Amino acid sequence: MAITIKSDRDIEKMKTAGHVVSVCHQRVEAAIAPGVTTGELDAIVVDTIKEFGGLASFLGYNGFPSSICASVNEEIVHGFPGPRKLQTGDIIAVDIGAIIDGWHGDSAWTYGVGEISLAAQQLLRDTEESLYLGVAQARAGNRLGAIGHAIEQFAAPRGYGIVKGYGGHGIGRRMHEDPHVPNFGSANYGPVLRKGMTFAIEPMLNIGTERTRTLSDDWTVVTADGSLSAHFEFTIAITDDEPLVLTPRLASVVH
Ligand code: MG
Ligand code: MG
Repeated sequence: MAITIKSDRDIEKMKTAGHVVSVCHQRVEAAIAPGVTTGELDAIVVDTIKEFGGLASFLGYNGFPSSICASVNEEIVHGFPGPRKLQTGDIIAVDIGAIIDGWHGDSAWTYGVGEISLAAQQLLRDTEESLYLGVAQARAGNRLGAIGHAIEQFAAPRGYGIVKGYGGHGIGRRMHEDPHVPNFGSANYGPVLRKGMTFAIEPMLNIGTERTRTLSDDWTVVTADGSLSAHFEFTIAITDDEPLVLTPRLASVVH
């Protein structure tokens, strides 16, 4: 399938969907604390998306049972929210997608629970930084591969396992559109980026091996060696100038 090009009006609508995802993250971040369950975070997102008259992108997607993915510690992506209580020292990747007026927004962020180890802090900082470096390459005239190349150039020398089997994607009227956006590879790979293309860019970095396995629930992807993993994702639009982040971070709300 060809990459869909969005009009300025389409992108305004995606900005609205993105804003709802950003508000969800703001509320989730404020709620995260030791003793809170991942199911409670899911409920916050269900309520927030409903408040804005939207639908959760993930609920029912290929049978996914919840509105968020909640991936704790060695879980990389696609963890189920539920009765698990967060503990001090955990890290949790929360992935949220919302559909507003037929358009999707998709963003993941990894949060620390209480005080986390120095290694976990560094993993979070570096994965976030790799997201920004990837996004910075999402410019008209660059090839798609420039995004993953920038992520790999930053992450590989720091010893991280870069998850290869999962990555970013086109997004718009569907959550997952062409093309796949890898987090590694040559800057000369792939199509030339044009104004109006919209992508989810989402590096996943592991402290240890890049190898992964999927749990018996057929969804939850974990690091093969049990090491910590972080996941950061923005939905962005290619413009004539700087990339436009459609799911920007909103200021933290004090508990
Ligand atoms: Mg996502
Ligand atoms: Mg995504």
